[in-house]
Amino acid sequence: MIHPVRYCVLTPEQRSRVYCCNICLRESDDADNVFLGHVSGEGVHAFHEQCGKDWMRRLPICPECRVDMVIVDPSSLLDTACHGCFNEVTAILANRAITDAARGQAVIAAAKNGHLAVVNAILANGAIADEHRDLAVVAAAENGHLAVVNAILANGAITDAARGQAVVVAAENGHPSVVNAILANGAITDAARGQVVIAAARKGDLALVNAILANGAITDAARGDAVIAAAKNGHLAVVNAILANGAITDTNRSFAVLWPASNGDLAVVNAILANGAITDDARNQAVMAAAEKGHLDVVNAIFANRAIPDAVRGRAVGAAAITGHLAVVNAILANGAITDAARGWAVRSAAGQGHLAVVNAILANGAIANEHRGKAVIAAAQNRHLAVVNAILANGAIADKYRGLAELAAAINGHLSMVIALKRARDSMMCTVLGTRCSWSARSWQSRPRLDDVRCIRHEIQVVGSILAVTAFVFGVARVLPRKSASS
Ligand SMILES: [Zn+2]
Ligand SMILES: [Zn+2]
Repeated sequence: MIHPVRYCVLTPEQRSRVYCCNICLRESDDADNVFLGHVSGEGVHAFHEQCGKDWMRRLPICPECRVDMVIVDPSSLLDTACHGCFNEVTAILANRAITDAARGQAVIAAAKNGHLAVVNAILANGAIADEHRDLAVVAAAENGHLAVVNAILANGAITDAARGQAVVVAAENGHPSVVNAILANGAITDAARGQVVIAAARKGDLALVNAILANGAITDAARGDAVIAAAKNGHLAVVNAILANGAITDTNRSFAVLWPASNGDLAVVNAILANGAITDDARNQAVMAAAEKGHLDVVNAIFANRAIPDAVRGRAVGAAAITGHLAVVNAILANGAITDAARGWAVRSAAGQGHLAVVNAILANGAIANEHRGKAVIAAAQNRHLAVVNAILANGAIADKYRGLAELAAAINGHLSMVIALKRARDSMMCTVLGTRCSWSARSWQSRPRLDDVRCIRHEIQVVGSILAVTAFVFGVARVLPRKSASS
């Protein structure tokens, strides 16, 4: 959401940077000429009072940078303080009695937007309530206005809770100098310290993590969350600093290992594994994630950590097979047995993606069921992987129904050489009505006639015989009907 920029009377400092009106482009040699405007980056976009008034009646945007503009209500302390209109704020403070509450609200608004001169002017005017001082520090800290933070801290005490909140929002928004200023001011709670460490860990801000850990205790839970946040983002030094600070639970350690395993961040994985136990479930998930992404060193590190069940090893082979990570597949197969079913699923996964080397590695590892072989051929045929089809056909028999579907898939893809490969490899043909055409095609590709060709020729005879029988019946009926109509 974009707030409109308000423009108002310029401060003497802003006025000194103006050399012409952005509307009429005339230089002002008259020092009394009132200029209104707003600060934009390094420059000040300024207008004569009358030029601005005429312009804003037609179009409420800055003629120079085209941001939306609205006119500040010059009689409102909150309005003018919020937008840093120093001259108008001082005029209001000089001419009117202001309540503590109004002063407090105006300080909060000015502090949020970093208007130091306005904050100082209002604080010099009289007291503000303690809770307003708390809110003003948090607002300035959130937006990184260090000078304003210091001005308010110098004005009076703030609570530990406000100090903690201000440190948290400053850390989350990346204002380390503000964090340090507030930490120097007094104590913060353990909970706030924990939140800051988590925010700093997420960003990998080692200096801030160390500063807060040196400041006081954080809970085990916060330490765990901070390790997870740092591990997720690959901040090894931060992970080590927090682990050195105290214990984290097995559960948090288990969570923390998953992201670096998936990201292939071996150093972070090792740091967490060296710190203590992780759950079996986490170990299994970490192997799977690393295998899928092809992180061989991480897979080996987790294997070295503790034995993995055969079922998990099988799923990990499948995950590596589908993404074609041959080295990972070999490492997992070298680690121990996988079931025939897992091998079958892995071959099917690799076959569909055309990973020939992976298919061969898994087929060399042990037997797979005919059903898996058949479905693997279909998957390879669908995706036009001829070399994979040939590798699996060389591995053993596949059932007719799978060969038929594979031929169909190859035919739909217009992959003639694959259709031929499938037909050449077959032991018997699917004998359906469609078989008559298959038989003819097969004979043109095969030099010698085979048993299944004969079977399909028999089918042709059956089909031709059926057509003749139907034709004879129709002619018979056609002959009988006119006779009946003639006799009646
Ligand atoms: Zn002008
Ligand atoms: Zn502008």
